[in-house]
Amino acid sequence: MSDVSANLTEIQARITKRAKKWGEDPDTVTLIAVSKQQPIDRVEAALKAGHRVYGENRVQEAQGKWPELKEKYDGTELHLIGPLQSNKAKDAVALFDVIQTVDRPKIARALADEMKKSGRNLPVYIQINIGAEDQKAGIDIADADAFIAECRDVYGLDVQGLMCIPPAEEQPAPFFALLGKIAKRNGLSKLSMGMSSDYEIAVQFGASLVRVGTGVFGARG
Ligand SMILES: *Cc1c(COP(=O)(O)O)cnc(C)c1O
Repeated sequence: MSDVSANLTEIQARITKRAKKWGEDPDTVTLIAVSKQQPIDRVEAALKAGHRVYGENRVQEAQGKWPELKEKYDGTELHLIGPLQSNKAKDAVALFDVIQTVDRPKIARALADEMKKSGRNLPVYIQINIGAEDQKAGIDIADADAFIAECRDVYGLDVQGLMCIPPAEEQPAPFFALLGKIAKRNGLSKLSMGMSSDYEIAVQFGASLVRVGTGVFGARG
């Protein structure tokens, strides 16, 4: 599992194969390499292999490595895929290029304020609690349509799509399908779904962004 470059090639090939098989356009699927808790040499191996799209789930951890890496490797795009606290909104807007985890009005407002102040109008995704799990982040399914409208109309956020993490112990396919249904009725085309264990199924169900960590970099330290 040490050959990061080979892993990236393999995963991209699997994405292309699965997309073609199910009538999806492989060019509309982006592989996000999730670099959280990974040794820096593995992350640099991916950057040197030419990969440019990464995901981190903690603002503070990302601040420790990405300013320097972004400086060094042109065209790097960094996605926040973990829960955000409103007191970290400023740092998040300064460092990240896409925020995938907008899931409550307080965060939507804090991000909108920071984007106005800084002039960085970042694309955002709304995180949906697709398995209705008590412990999981994400807006409840029943509140999703109203919250999406609020993010657009009240806070003026550039909402591009929806993000979800299905329940760990269940088959992910019905949850991916449900995310697609919620997106469609809200006029959203982009779906962030699928991780190392299920990204091919996510592609089959129309994923635009798949978030793969251990599959790219190996086990986290
Ligand atoms: C860690 C993480 C991933 C990647 O998980 P792997 O199983 O290592 O691929 C994807 N999405 C989110 C939100 C994560 O926190």
